[in-house]
Amino acid sequence: MFQADTVHPATPVPTGPDAESATGGGLPGPQPPEDARSGELYFQRCRWCRSAVFRRLLCPVCAASDLAWERSAGTGVVRHVSVVGRSTGRPRAIAIVDMDEGFWLSARIATTQPDAVGVGTAVALPADSPADPRQPVFRICPPPHDSW
Ligand SMILES: [Zn+2]
Repeated sequence: MFQADTVHPATPVPTGPDAESATGGGLPGPQPPEDARSGELYFQRCRWCRSAVFRRLLCPVCAASDLAWERSAGTGVVRHVSVVGRSTGRPRAIAIVDMDEGFWLSARIATTQPDAVGVGTAVALPADSPADPRQPVFRICPPPHDSW
């Protein structure tokens, strides 16, 4: 008579800090590296499909959660713009900016003429921009010189 060999390999239970995020409240979405300085814009890139995303928990393309922070060059092109605050006398241009790295974000365009900001306007994040990651403030890039 055989005796069933009931071998139960002890499944190692991972110890250590709880994997669940302990961030209650605060800003939605993941936070950039702590050493991010003002004027530096960070985005995330999926380690699997290399999609660039901004403040997401999952890759919108392949649903992976393995996203790595990368620093953006801070340049992009306005995809959509709307002028808000006309009634207060301080109109501001709020734009959706397609960044060169392939992600997009909502940002304010610093300009004295919000109505002059159009789709396709090249914008850049100035180095001295305030370090508010919730809404970066872009500036309009000067048109390239033809003389070069
Ligand atoms: Zn992906």
